[in-house]
Amino acid sequence: MDTLIKNALLITMEEGRQPIENGCVYVEGSTIAYAGSQDGLPEGLKPDDVIDAKGHVCMPGFINTHTHLPMTLFRGAAEDVPLDTWLKDVIWPMEARLNEGHVYWGSMLALAELVRGGVTCVNDQYFFCDAIVEAASQAGMRAIIGRGLSDIALGGVEKLPEAEALFHKYNGMDGGRIRVSICPHAEYTNSVSFLRKCAETAQKLGAPIHTHISETKKEHEECIARHGMTPLALFDKLGCLEGTFMAAHCVWIEDSDLELMKEKGAGVLHCPGSNLKLGSGIARIEKMRQMGIKAGLGTDGAASNDNLSLWEEMSLCSFLQKGVNNTPTALPAEYALHMATSGGAEALGLSKWLGTIEKGKKADIILIDTDQPHYYPRADMRKHLVYCGNSYDVRLTMIDGRVVFKDGEYLTLDIEKIYHSVQKSAEELRV
Ligand SMILES: [Zn+2]
Repeated sequence: MDTLIKNALLITMEEGRQPIENGCVYVEGSTIAYAGSQDGLPEGLKPDDVIDAKGHVCMPGFINTHTHLPMTLFRGAAEDVPLDTWLKDVIWPMEARLNEGHVYWGSMLALAELVRGGVTCVNDQYFFCDAIVEAASQAGMRAIIGRGLSDIALGGVEKLPEAEALFHKYNGMDGGRIRVSICPHAEYTNSVSFLRKCAETAQKLGAPIHTHISETKKEHEECIARHGMTPLALFDKLGCLEGTFMAAHCVWIEDSDLELMKEKGAGVLHCPGSNLKLGSGIARIEKMRQMGIKAGLGTDGAASNDNLSLWEEMSLCSFLQKGVNNTPTALPAEYALHMATSGGAEALGLSKWLGTIEKGKKADIILIDTDQPHYYPRADMRKHLVYCGNSYDVRLTMIDGRVVFKDGEYLTLDIEKIYHSVQKSAEELRV
């Protein structure tokens, strides 16, 4: 199926390329064959579908670099309570009751919210991963999925063989749309010997590692007391940073950690909304930007956000860095937009295929309706998107060349069935 998108304000997110008026994108199957001005469009093309994007921005889909999809089930279960109480008295007891069906429906709800808000790729970490893979596959989402691993907490069961089996079963599925990662949950939930095994397994498989690093001050300081080094330094010592290393949060990392991130090409998955709501702190993203460290944006799970809007993460990220650095020049809108797209692709090690609209890349594309009050008067649309836009401006979401959401309609999901099943699941789980 070939699709021509025309008359758009095309924001390709390629470095240095300005927005293109009357821009066109030609999609051949799952791949972008042309992106540029109308004048340069090759002649003789015969698209199966033509989408008139007048009054719309056409840009790469957002990449949500850190999620726990099924946690939509816990949305609103406990608000404004201390982190310890939240985890021990609410989240963990509810998680202990989860079954595969709950996880499937919770994931489906998350995926509906994500495609509605223009997200075309997620990086997830949870359990009952067969159900998450099934949901992502049916929704048409691009996803990296990994089994959260912990050998000294959360039940204390070693699940590395399960994670490895998941890799062999699903990595590369759906034409490469589904990938599998190795996900040691964090330093404080794993032993050193187990973390080393995770590193060896990831290297053997060529799989990326996805983990939580220095989310809270307590976690960071306790690691130093336990091991005489920071969580990031420990992961590096154990070999985890040799391949693609995806580090969620990094709120409390130190200058030496920043150097390490830069040297090893590790990516930070920045979740400002979750870090604020859980009182964890504010990561030094402006400093990382200046150092050229790879950085993407994530929502984290819905229980600590509580929505899954990359739009809110973009503006929060920019505003917070301006606030803590005492200057409006910190983290400009264009950089927040980069983090939500091409920066996310870099942090996940997928920039060869994703993150920009250019020939040869995967057709993960969104159209944003800018004929709305909050986008007038016209100015630099990249600034408007970050400072004025929201999820409800998304008119169309295409993943891998396939339209999954258009004009308020879900083309791969039965939204009424999802609402009903999620409500039933949440009632079964409540403490
Ligand atoms: Zn997380």
